Amino acid sequence: MQSTNRLVFLGTGGGKNVMFTQARKTGGIYIELDNVKMILDPGPGSLVNARKLKLHPERWNALLLSHLHPDHATDANVYLDGMQEAVLVAEEHCVLQNKKWQGRKYDYYPCISLYHRNRVKEVHAVVPKDKVTLGPLALAAVKTDHYDPTVGFRIDGSRSIGYAADGTYYKGQEKRFDGCNVLILNVLVPKGVQAKKHWHMGVDDAVVMVRKMRQKPKLVVIQHFSFLMLRNDVRAQAKHIEKETGVRTIAAEDFMEINLDGMEARGT
Ligand SMILES: [Zn+2]
Repeated sequence: MQSTNRLVFLGTGGGKNVMFTQARKTGGIYIELDNVKMILDPGPGSLVNARKLKLHPERWNALLLSHLHPDHATDANVYLDGMQEAVLVAEEHCVLQNKKWQGRKYDYYPCISLYHRNRVKEVHAVVPKDKVTLGPLALAAVKTDHYDPTVGFRIDGSRSIGYAADGTYYKGQEKRFDGCNVLILNVLVPKGVQAKKHWHMGVDDAVVMVRKMRQKPKLVVIQHFSFLMLRNDVRAQAKHIEKETGVRTIAAEDFMEINLDGMEARGT
């Protein structure tokens, strides 16, 4: 069967306030690349909206989790209940208990239940720099600077997708995404506002990061919007990044679809 190579945003909201109000949806990103179908960071509402869009979760191959925060992980167990043949790739604290982090006790419970962990076909509990092969795709877990353990992902196939996940920009982060066709950034802080260290990326950081990339992406997508971003015209924020970096940048919308071959975006 012909592969579509696309991204579908099942939600573009981020942080607890936008999640709780559902001012933007929080279902994560559906990725289809080289016939591998994946869901990335499914927060609340993901399954309901995937069904609404007829994305057929029963045919998906993998679930990727950057970290255990509810706006990224709430629907993970819900999906895994039905995705018995799936491969789970998750930051290790999502699946393993009593794991230390940065030398200290880290006592969140894993967000994937023991039941679901034992039920899926394969579990990869990853830390930054780990690599996982997913059919024809090569996945790499990428370091982040978030206040809880988190990884970004780089997915390489006939197209390359970079997902920085949550966290502030750190020096050298851009190198991990060099040569990606599309770079997805979770940007929660508008231009001119200093992003709180270890929390989330701001527009100014996104500009620095993309400017420093040696092999720039064809497209940058900003998403995971906070109320602060939504009040500051996310389209104008994307235009600012585009103007400052020379790289086409769009602000994702709920249910937006991006064709990875032509890199055009459309609402669904
Ligand atoms: Zn987070």
